[in-house]
Amino acid sequence: MGINAQEGYPPELSSEEQEYLLTNLKDWSIAHGLAVRPAPSFVQPAQDPAGVLAATAPVTLFPSLFPRNCFEEGLAIQTAYNELYSAIARDEEWLRGIVEELIDIDDFVGKLWQTHLAVKKEGYVQNLSLGLFRSDYMVHVDQGNPSSPSGLKQVEFNTIASSFGGLSSQVSRLHKYLLSINAYPSSATSLVKEEALRQSKSASSLAQGLAAAHKAYGPSSTGRALCVLFVVQDPERNVFDQRHLEYALFEENGVRAFRLPFEQTLSHTELDTDRTLLYTPPNSPLTTYEVTTIYFRAGYSPDDYPEEKEWDARLQLERSKAIKCPSVLTHLAGCKKVQQVLATPHSPHLKRFLPNEQVAAKVLSTFAPIYPLDDSEAGQEAKKLARDVHSAARYVLKPQREGGGNNVYRKAIPGFLEKLPQTHWPAYILMEMIEPPPLTNAILRNGQLQRGGVIGELGVYGVCLWRNGTDDKDAGQVLENWEAGYLLRTKGDQSEEGGVAAGFGAVDSVVLT
Ligand code: ADP
Ligand code: MG
Ligand code: MG
Repeated sequence: MGINAQEGYPPELSSEEQEYLLTNLKDWSIAHGLAVRPAPSFVQPAQDPAGVLAATAPVTLFPSLFPRNCFEEGLAIQTAYNELYSAIARDEEWLRGIVEELIDIDDFVGKLWQTHLAVKKEGYVQNLSLGLFRSDYMVHVDQGNPSSPSGLKQVEFNTIASSFGGLSSQVSRLHKYLLSINAYPSSATSLVKEEALRQSKSASSLAQGLAAAHKAYGPSSTGRALCVLFVVQDPERNVFDQRHLEYALFEENGVRAFRLPFEQTLSHTELDTDRTLLYTPPNSPLTTYEVTTIYFRAGYSPDDYPEEKEWDARLQLERSKAIKCPSVLTHLAGCKKVQQVLATPHSPHLKRFLPNEQVAAKVLSTFAPIYPLDDSEAGQEAKKLARDVHSAARYVLKPQREGGGNNVYRKAIPGFLEKLPQTHWPAYILMEMIEPPPLTNAILRNGQLQRGGVIGELGVYGVCLWRNGTDDKDAGQVLENWEAGYLLRTKGDQSEEGGVAAGFGAVDSVVLT
């Protein structure tokens, strides 16, 4: 993309134009479930005691400009990333090496690892695993040489609870609709035209992934009805995003799913003698379902485990015969430490998992520099960079956590590390900040319009279903592997974090340039 491609985009709107656009946007959003439960700061719980209200999800008014070559590269590379992370999740020995460096200084990672070990000891009874992944990128512009071609750099790879696939499909529909009703002024339509928009297939495609696992599970040995279980947080403001997948699973694949708050796992599920996972819905206590697939939209954060009983719940689900999305090992494969180790220059790791050199080279080209904060040579260098306010300004410090709001940015890094005992530093990785091209857009959040500089983050979804184990001849076989649509999240350029749910960003779609 020429750096000037955005000049005059999106155009200023007259008050009549803005009114027309916003009215249509707000009504379409609610009518099509491009919605969230309102934030307590926006609608006080006392004002909605029955919990019937929904609010327009934070969205951009216009689709954002995105370089076509970068977009296509991100989509094209997804099956390689699926292959990479499924191979990591299958390689317990390799993961052990990573986890061992964290186990004494990161209790959460330690607990996950113990959960895996406990199941391993008695033996896993399900050798299929499902990944609904999302690889996140930003377009990087070389600040020293802004005319050099921009490239896609990976922010992180998500292996658990990759969200917004439901809302993403709706926001690309919304932007297309707004174009088709002439809500965008004619000065914008040289850029925003139908052939430059991309519909995200994420809702349908992720649901198809769940359906593939459901089918691969096979029939019930006891003739019970089969279902998929969405293990969720409660309350969950982003419930409609999840419902879109559930409805697509039912309407397009005929597969029944239930929502189970994670904390209620032990009261509503049990294991049969052969560790079949049984679920009894509270509304029909006489019907017990056999769970084929557990889809975790909870359990990724220490906050989801306030008591030991939540760890018992995670263990019960992991022990079960249901296919886990993700298994504990797949969850651990998403640690930022894994990403850092893969990105180590000249390391043998990528080759181990991606034997095809061309495929590995393409994946490698999307890595941004990431360093450990340990006693290795690279670690010593990184510690120096992180301690100094001047050099730290180019970096972000990340712990092994998911869900947004956990990182320390730029100049805040030295002060943060100073307060942290040195023994705990290796629990973090230091990553170079990706510097995306300057863009402008307007975001509607909680009814308020904010216009200004924005930063876009592209997520590419992937579905992968594979066989674990080492014993049988089919071990390691990848049964399904596809790219599953995209997400564009856009945040104000003053905010370091971009999480939509965390309150910093908006869902968006692309106009390819
Ligand atoms: P989480 O798993 O909590 O989502 P991320 O690694 O995605 O953690 O970091 C959260 C946010 O921080 C990202 O969505 C992005 O906006 C910002 N961020 C993270 N790493 C970088 C980076 N290297 N360059 C620029 N921004 C980053
Ligand atoms: Mg993440
Ligand atoms: Mg993220």
